[in-house]
Amino acid sequence: MVELKLYGTGTSGYQFLKKSLVDYLVFNQLEYRIEEINDVARFISDNINSVPSVAINGDQPIELSKEGDFKMGIIKLYHRIAALYGKDQMRKILVPTDFSSSASTALHFAKIFCRQKYYSLDLLHVHHPDYIEVAKHPYDEDHSLEAKTELLEKTAKAAEVDFVGDLLGSTPIQAVIKEGLAGDVIIDASHKYEYIIMGSHGASNLFESLLGSVSHRVASESQCPVILVPPGVEFYKLSEICILGKGKESDITAEVMKAFPNIKVSHYETNGLAVAVGGYDTHPMDEIDISIEKEDTYFITSMDCYKHARAIGDYTSLEPVYHKIQAKGRPLIVWP
Ligand code: ATP
Ligand code: MN
Repeated sequence: MVELKLYGTGTSGYQFLKKSLVDYLVFNQLEYRIEEINDVARFISDNINSVPSVAINGDQPIELSKEGDFKMGIIKLYHRIAALYGKDQMRKILVPTDFSSSASTALHFAKIFCRQKYYSLDLLHVHHPDYIEVAKHPYDEDHSLEAKTELLEKTAKAAEVDFVGDLLGSTPIQAVIKEGLAGDVIIDASHKYEYIIMGSHGASNLFESLLGSVSHRVASESQCPVILVPPGVEFYKLSEICILGKGKESDITAEVMKAFPNIKVSHYETNGLAVAVGGYDTHPMDEIDISIEKEDTYFITSMDCYKHARAIGDYTSLEPVYHKIQAKGRPLIVWP
């Protein structure tokens, strides 16, 4: 049970604070009790110098005016609650980063995706002592674990301070560094997250391939959905989801609809043979082109379809469709 004392009068700042905290607690399924204190005599007796202020579980109250930015004050409260009530219980999104520009695009996308929700975000770098991506990071740079830890913490802090959108969507970001092989570590951690949001490419920058090797492995083996963010991604309000290549064994429609309530879900089914043999007035590729032009449509494919398409890799498969989507700067979501 989270016991909150909210000190303040009914100003808009106070209402924002209350709504943010309640939404955060509800989203993370934490039980709570709120006492609202608007009596000046109580402010004095409880040693409150400015309002709004919040006391969590009888701790020393946090005065938002002393936290500098009001939004940062709220994020600090989220962190505080998460620390008290098991970080692992929070609904979280994982953003793995290799410090490339693709990964930072993914982080920015993740913050927009989190907006209006109350996810916490873990920013993860996987360090391997023998592995340096020279293409991006020259040998003379400091690749020690210490240097990367410092850089990761700086990146997380900067992303937390650099707000996108409104107050209610403020996202707490935690820097996490682990040692090992990026693919292994990300896959092992995937069950703890609701989504992984990562760059389609990374430091190697080989854009002729659909995905980098780490993204490909994660998209093939993750236990949670993976949002693959291409370079040049643009942010549109999500109003329709197109499921690509629904298969008999892998009908993800029900799950997708549950995860995105109130969003229209359509299907695009490939019929390998039809494409190969022809005989249809509309080529399936034309159909998908129309959907790709709709800026508010996101594309989701099941992990089975994804793996199949990547293994076959010819024009009867979905692979060219995935390419088109990513080339248009649209995220591709792979659903386990
Ligand atoms: P490759 O490494 O296969 O030559 P690449 O560097 O272009 O190609 P990936 O390494 O797959 O592509 O990078 C894709 C995404 O994977 C990155 O944007 C980042 O989100 C994540 N990633 C890659 N390496 C790491 C790492 N060491 N730690 C955390 N995340 C990583
Ligand atoms: Mn890489």
